[in-house]
Amino acid sequence: MFSKILIANRGEIALRVVRACREMGIASVAVHSTADSDAMHVRMADESVCIGPPSSSQSYLSIPAIISACEITGAEAIHPGYGFLSENAGFVQVVEDHDLTFIGPTAEHIRIMGDKITAKETMKALGVPCVPGSDGGVPTLEDAKRIGADFGYPVIIKATAGGGGRGMKVARSEKEIERAFTTARAEAKAAFGNDEVYIEKYLTTPRHIEIQVFGDGKGNAVHLGERDCSLQRRHQKVLEEAPGPAISEEERARIGKICADAVARINYIGAGTIEFLYENGEFYFIEMNTRLQVEHPVTEGIFGVDLVREQIRVAAGKPMSFVQEDLKINGHAIEVRINAEKLPSFSPSPGRITQYHAPGGLGVRMDSALYDGYRIPPYYDSLIGKLIVHGRDRPEALARLGRALGELIVDGIDTTVPLFDALLQEEDLQTGDYNIHWLERWLETNLGGG
Ligand code: ADP
Repeated sequence: MFSKILIANRGEIALRVVRACREMGIASVAVHSTADSDAMHVRMADESVCIGPPSSSQSYLSIPAIISACEITGAEAIHPGYGFLSENAGFVQVVEDHDLTFIGPTAEHIRIMGDKITAKETMKALGVPCVPGSDGGVPTLEDAKRIGADFGYPVIIKATAGGGGRGMKVARSEKEIERAFTTARAEAKAAFGNDEVYIEKYLTTPRHIEIQVFGDGKGNAVHLGERDCSLQRRHQKVLEEAPGPAISEEERARIGKICADAVARINYIGAGTIEFLYENGEFYFIEMNTRLQVEHPVTEGIFGVDLVREQIRVAAGKPMSFVQEDLKINGHAIEVRINAEKLPSFSPSPGRITQYHAPGGLGVRMDSALYDGYRIPPYYDSLIGKLIVHGRDRPEALARLGRALGELIVDGIDTTVPLFDALLQEEDLQTGDYNIHWLERWLETNLGGG
C-alpha cells in the first residue's frame, strides 16, 4: 500500500480524499494556490505545498508544479479528484513517466473515453446501446443537413471534445440547423480548441441515468447500480439520487451487467461512470466519465462502500474488496449540490462565511470544506457543499432532506439552498416524476428564467 498520497485538487473533494487516506493510515499531501492558503483541505491534510497563484491554469492545472510537489514531499501516488486534471491523459502519462502512480484509469482509457466519437464507437463494439446519430464527426453544414433529414428533427449537435455541457446545440428543424451547427462549432473551438462536432437524435423526454462501474485492471469489474441525475440546469446536475425512481430491478441488473462486462473486457481500472439517457424503457449511451463523480456519495450511501478507498486499493495493485454478489442495495440516497450562487440568476456569490452550521443526525452526510469565517475565493467552481441523505426508502430520504436543509446554516453569502426548499414542495419531486427538462421548465415558471 502507498504510504503517502498527494491530492491534486481542492475544496470538498480534496477533503473527501484526505478522509479516506486517514482511515487507511496513509499520509496525505494537499496542494493549494495562494488563494487557498486558508482552505480546509490544506488544514486537514498531513502536509501541504503551495503550487502557484490563484489562476487554476498556473496552480491546480500546472503539471510541473504538481509533479514537483510530489518530489518534494515523497508522495508515491496522486489522486486527482474530479475536474482539473482528473481526465487529462497527458497528465497521467507524465505521472507514470515520473514513476508515480495515478489513482484512476490508464492514459489510454482516458484518451478513448475523452473523445466522444471514439468512446461511442468503443461502447457500441462492446455491446452498449447508443443514441442513434452520425457515425463519427460531421465536417460540413451539408453533412449536418443530410443527417438531420435522415434521422428527423430534433437533433443535437455536440462537440467531440465536449464536457460540462458546453458546445451542445439543439436544432428543432432544418431552419435551425445552420445556426446550431455554426455556434456549436464555435463554442467547441473556444472551449476545447477543437471544433469537431457530431450529431445525435435529440431525445425529448429522457431521464439521465448513469451506471457506476468499478474495475481492477485485470479483467474483473462490477457495477454499483444507477444514479438518476435528471434534475439539471443548463446540462449541469443539481440533485442526484440512487436508486433511480424509474428503474426496475430487472433493468438495473440488465444494463448493469452490460456495463460491467464492457469495462471488464477493456481491463478498466478504478471508478468509472457510464452515462445514459433513458426513455421508454431503453438506455442510450452518451458518454463515459473515467473518474470519481461529484455525486458518488449517493452510491456509497446505498451500497455502504467507500469508493475512494477502493480507488486507492486497486491503484496499489490490491483486489477490489467486493464482488458483484456482495453488492446489495440498502434504502435510498439523495444528494443536493449547494452552490455559492444568487437566485434567480445563479450568478456566483463568493465572499466570507459569517456563520456555518452543518446538519447532522441519522442518515445525514455533509461533504463540504466550509467553516466559520472562511472566505470563498472567486476563482473556482461555485460548488461549496453536497448534502447527502440516506433513508430506508425514498419518502424517508425526502423527509430527511427537508429536515437537514432546515438545519443547515450558511450565512454571509447567497446559496442555492432555497431552490431545494422550494423543489421539495413539488409533487413531481415527491413522486419522482421528472425528466431532464423538468427543472428548466420549473425555473422558468417559478423563478422567471434564471
Ligand atoms: P457533457 O460531457 O458536456 O456533460 P453529455 O453528453 O454528458 O455532455 O450530455 C449532457 C446532457 O445533455 C445530458 O445529461 C442531457 O441532459 C443532454 N443531452 C445530451 N445528449 C442528448 C440527446 N441525444 N438528447 C437529449 N439530450 C441530450
